[in-house]
Amino acid sequence: MITRMSSLFLRTLREDPADAEVPSHRLLVRAGYVRRVAPGGYSWLPLGLRVLRRIETVVREEMDAIGGQEIQFPALLPREPYEVTGRWTEYGDALFRLKDRKGADYLLGPTHEELFALTVKGEYSSYKDYPVILYQVQTKYRDEARPRAGILRGREFVMKDSYSFDLDDAGLQRSYALHRDAYINIFDRLGLEYVVVAATSGAMGGSASEEFLAVAETGEDTYVRSTESGYAANVEAVVTPAPPARSLEGLPEAQVHHTPNTPTIAGLVDYLNTKTELGRTFTAADTLKNVMVKTRQPGEKDWHIVGIGVPGDREVDQKRLEAALAPADVALLEEADFAANPFLVKGYIGPKALRDNGIRYLVDPRVVTGTAWVTGADKADHHVVDLVAGRDFQPDGTVEAAEVREGDASPDGKGTLVAARGIEIGHIFQLGRKYADAFALDALGADSKPIRITMGSYGVGVSRLVAVIAEQHHDDLGLVWPRAVSPFDVHVVIAGKDETVAAGAEKLAADLDAAGIEVLLDDRKSTPGVKFADAELIGVPTILVVGRGLAKGVVEIKDRTSGDREEVAVDEVVARLA
Ligand code: ATP
Ligand code: MG
Ligand code: MG
Ligand code: MG
Repeated sequence: MITRMSSLFLRTLREDPADAEVPSHRLLVRAGYVRRVAPGGYSWLPLGLRVLRRIETVVREEMDAIGGQEIQFPALLPREPYEVTGRWTEYGDALFRLKDRKGADYLLGPTHEELFALTVKGEYSSYKDYPVILYQVQTKYRDEARPRAGILRGREFVMKDSYSFDLDDAGLQRSYALHRDAYINIFDRLGLEYVVVAATSGAMGGSASEEFLAVAETGEDTYVRSTESGYAANVEAVVTPAPPARSLEGLPEAQVHHTPNTPTIAGLVDYLNTKTELGRTFTAADTLKNVMVKTRQPGEKDWHIVGIGVPGDREVDQKRLEAALAPADVALLEEADFAANPFLVKGYIGPKALRDNGIRYLVDPRVVTGTAWVTGADKADHHVVDLVAGRDFQPDGTVEAAEVREGDASPDGKGTLVAARGIEIGHIFQLGRKYADAFALDALGADSKPIRITMGSYGVGVSRLVAVIAEQHHDDLGLVWPRAVSPFDVHVVIAGKDETVAAGAEKLAADLDAAGIEVLLDDRKSTPGVKFADAELIGVPTILVVGRGLAKGVVEIKDRTSGDREEVAVDEVVARLA
C-alpha cells in the first residue's frame, strides 16, 4: 500500500521541542514520530509506530531462531509473587504500586522473572520438558527517578524480555550463549555501533551478566575497555584486584561478619556442617531461617557472628530453630541481648550510606546478594541491607569497587583502560536458582528425584532502540534511518505542479509498490522546498524526486545517508530500488 503524505497523520515541526536534551529526542518529536503525554510517557504516531514494529520484527525473528517461544503476560500484576522474592519492597520507588477496588495490592510489571518462573512451574513437571526459552515483547513500567530524553528513558516502555529454564549449569551456559549470539545478530541488523561489557547484576540478583551498550556521547553509562585486550566493563562492574586484608588497617575500617547467602538448602546444610562448630550435624529437614550463629573457621581464634538466610522459606519457626541449634554456641538475633553483644545491629543502612560515609567493608566471598553486618568508622555495628555482588563488593570477596579511571591498568593486566559513554540496549543475566528457589521450581528427574531449575533472564529495550538508532543515525537536517528499520523504503517527492509530473510519480509509486517496496508519496500541494526539508527530516534512506526531468525520461535518486544524487531513467527505477 502506498502511504500518501496528503492524508498521513503527520505534522512536522519547524522548532525543536523546548525540553529536548539529545538529538534523537529533538528529531523524533520534530519529524512527528512521537508525542509527549506525560513525563516518560510518549505516544507513537504512524511513523514512529512503523519503526517500532520493524525493530520488534527483527527481535522476534532472532528470538524465534534460537527456539524462543513468544507468550504475553499482563502488565497489571498481583503483589504476591513479588512478595515471595522480596522485590515488592526491594524495587523501592521505581515500582508502580496500586490497589484495586477491593483494596488488593497490584503492581505494573517492571520485569517478569516471577511470572515466568511460576508459569513454567504450572505447566512443566518432568526433566523431559526442559530446556525451554520463553519471551514476550511487552510494555514495562518503572517510575524512573529521571525520565529522560523522550523514549530513551521512559516510565512506560517496550521491552523484549526472555527467560531460559535449564536442568543444569551447562544448560544455562548454552542458553546464555544462544541469547548473546541472538543479541549480536539483532544489534548488527539494526545497524548499531555497540560494545558488550561486563555488568553488574543489579536488582535481578544472580551473577554472570553482560550489557550491550550502544556507543553514544549522550549515554548515561560509562564503560572502560582495554587498549590491548578484549576486556570491557561497565565502570560499575570493574573488578579491581582485591587488596590484601591488612591494607584496611588504619582506614576507617569495617569488617563484615558475613552472611553466606547459601542458594540451596543443601548448600546451607553443607555450610553449617563444614564451616561452623555448632556441636551437631544438620540435615535438610532442619528448618532454618535468618539464624545468627557463632562460628569460627578452623584454626581461627576469634568467633564470628554469622547470619544465615534460607531463601524461599519465609516463616521463621523460632521453636524449631532453637531446638535445632540448642546444643551449640548459637545466638538468635531476634531474641539475643543486644546491649551485651558487640556484634549486634545498631541500625539498618544501605550500601550507599556506607559509601557516602567513607566506610570500607569486607564481604564474605560466598555472599551472592543480601545482607551483611559491618563495623563502621564510628565503631558501631550496622546491618547493611540489599548488598549486591559486583556493585557493592567484588566476587572475590572484598571491598566496594574502587573508582576506575582512564589510564588505569586493565584488570586483566593487558594494556590500559580507556573510557567512553554508552546507552544500555540489552542486558543478559545468568540468574541461577534464585527464582527457582523462591518458587520451588523443580523438574522430576529420570531417577524420580527433583532437579532444581536454573534460569537466565535477557532484556532488549525495544522502544529505547528507536531513540538509540536515531541517536547514531542522524545529521543536521534530520534522521537517517538504516534500511532495516526505516518507516518506508522509498520517499517519493512530487516536485512540481505539472499534471504529468504528478501522474508520472503516481505511476512510479504504484510500480514500486507492486515490487514489494514500501512507498511514502509526498503528494501534498506544498512547495518543493518544504517537501525536501520534510524528506530530509523524516529520514527515509532513499528519496526519489520526480520533477522537471520527467519530460526527458529521468528522475533523481538521492541517497539520504551519503547525500549522493543520481539521475536515473524512469524505466530503470524499479530495478534499481528493488
Ligand atoms: P538502565 O541502566 O538504562 O536503567 P536497566 O539496567 O534498569 O536499564 P534492565 O532491567 O536491564 O534495564 O532492562 C533491560 C533493558 O530494558 C535495558 O537494557 C534497556 O535497554 C531497557 N530499559 C530499561 N529501562 C528503560 C526505560 N526506563 N526506558 C526504556 N528502556 C528501558
Ligand atoms: Mg534502570
Ligand atoms: Mg543498567
Ligand atoms: Mg540492565
